[in-house]
Amino acid sequence: METIAARYDAPATICQSYMTEFDIECPKCQRLALIIAGNPYFFNNAQLKCGYCGHSELSADLIRYKVSVRRNCDTCGKLISKVIPHSKAPVDAFAIACPTCSEVRIYKPRNELYTHPHNDPGAGLAPIFGVPLWLQGNIRGNLFWAYNRQHLHAIKEYVGAKLRERQTTTHTTMVEKLPQFIKEAKNREAILKLIEKLERK
Ligand SMILES: [Zn+2]
Ligand SMILES: [Zn+2]
Repeated sequence: METIAARYDAPATICQSYMTEFDIECPKCQRLALIIAGNPYFFNNAQLKCGYCGHSELSADLIRYKVSVRRNCDTCGKLISKVIPHSKAPVDAFAIACPTCSEVRIYKPRNELYTHPHNDPGAGLAPIFGVPLWLQGNIRGNLFWAYNRQHLHAIKEYVGAKLRERQTTTHTTMVEKLPQFIKEAKNREAILKLIEKLERK
């Protein structure tokens, strides 16, 4: 085990400092792939790239529209309701036959934009594309994860330090936001062991 400073004195970084790149599991071949987010606050130009199978995705391609018409027929007054849940493009006009009186009319639907990730947001997933983070493991029933190797190293320095003083009072740092199980002394050895395993992964 390499020696770690007893006192924690790393720079007072915030979570976003690490959210420019994510090491992830490729959704096609399940090997190590990379998301380059660039801007940690806006993921609209992010790119997923796998060096093994060549798979790539753009966050712009995740945009979908929920297209819906819900109104009363102007002939018979009965409800007309129609939804296209995952349209890749917005729809301007929509011909619908009334289910009650069969009158066909062109309606202007509502287009609600959203991004459609691989999975719904959750622990251990990249905050964009919804794919599993590469660096993750279990500590006594708790999920430990890191965005990338730099993030993993920053957590390692914090966990390994015996003395942790508050680095700054101007903002909440990344390490202050770590879940409680990572901060607990009783988990220190287990977490450091897992981190070393992830460093070799
Ligand atoms: Zn791949
Ligand atoms: Zn009708």
